[in-house]
Amino acid sequence: MSAAKPLFGKIAILGIGLIGSSVARAARRGRLAAHIAGYEPTKQILDRARPIGFADSLHDDIETAVRDADLVIMAAPVGAYASLAQAMAPSLKPGAIVSDVGSVKMAVIRDAGPHIPGGVHFIPAHPIAGTEQSGPEAGFAELFDGRWCILTPPENADAAAVEKLKAFWKGLGSQVEVMDAKHHDLVLAITSHVPHLIAYNIVGTADDLATVTQSEVIKFSAGGFRDFTRIAASDPTMWRDVFLNNKDAVLEVLGRFSEDLSALQRAIRWGDGDALFNLFTRTRAIRRSIIDAGQDSAAPNFGRNPEHKN
Ligand code: NAP
Repeated sequence: MSAAKPLFGKIAILGIGLIGSSVARAARRGRLAAHIAGYEPTKQILDRARPIGFADSLHDDIETAVRDADLVIMAAPVGAYASLAQAMAPSLKPGAIVSDVGSVKMAVIRDAGPHIPGGVHFIPAHPIAGTEQSGPEAGFAELFDGRWCILTPPENADAAAVEKLKAFWKGLGSQVEVMDAKHHDLVLAITSHVPHLIAYNIVGTADDLATVTQSEVIKFSAGGFRDFTRIAASDPTMWRDVFLNNKDAVLEVLGRFSEDLSALQRAIRWGDGDALFNLFTRTRAIRRSIIDAGQDSAAPNFGRNPEHKN
């Protein structure tokens, strides 16, 4: 069987942490590029990444990394995108595609868009896949398998470039959906950003009750708290940038959340068991539909090994 020509000649990944290194690993698995280059400004991270070997070349200068690249993917925290786009702009190959993996999309278009030269296709993207870990060691080739990747091309985007980026994400194992950037930010505020904020808040509240934290909170954490601590262990830089860059949608969803929380408070205060029971019945059905959609395991306790239950 003759090996098919890869989809791209050279791809450059800017930021080689959990997501960037996973893109590199999955691209290699799918033979999607003839050459995978990584850029990372911090020497210690480059030193940690080299022996792992997920890229064909690793660079601490952005010009060399993006030179001749057919696809460039920004995979740093979104707060760095404006300076990344500005720094790479003079070295971009005409006709190249510039994309990203950032968890917010309006701010990426606002910050990076103006720096992308004419003749280069800018097509933002967001893979809905991740873990609470970070760094080059945390990545793995299967991260995107069966998960969604949302592309948010601008209205005048080149159709062939959009199709090529779609094919790339499918080659990484994802299913692909195209969406308006503003809608993306609202959807992600409810499904990801506000849940993270709630987790950070509940774990922070427990930590403030220091006398409790030292003993019972850790000891009895299996009672729900432990699952919040997993989310609240997510990378602080990445999540700071998400909240600073998706302000409007997060504040809108938080407003609704606060109203609904007040309604629950009232139901508890007035002993309205029906209101509580009806809500909990609805939410249980949502869990069921996530499992039916193949987005999580039906196994008890998220499929955790029973030996590690507590
Ligand atoms: P990560 O593991 O912390 O990796 C980010 C990497 O980018 C780090 O190696 C970091 O190096 C590097 N970096 C920082 N500033 C940079 C710059 N100016 N130029 C190049 N590299 C730079 O974080 P991650 O989880 O992969 O997140 C990366 C992006 O993916 C974020 O935009 C995030 O919104 C998005 N995303 C994350 C998830 C998730 O679940 N984690 C899911 C979907 C999308 P230093 O440590 O030296 O700063």
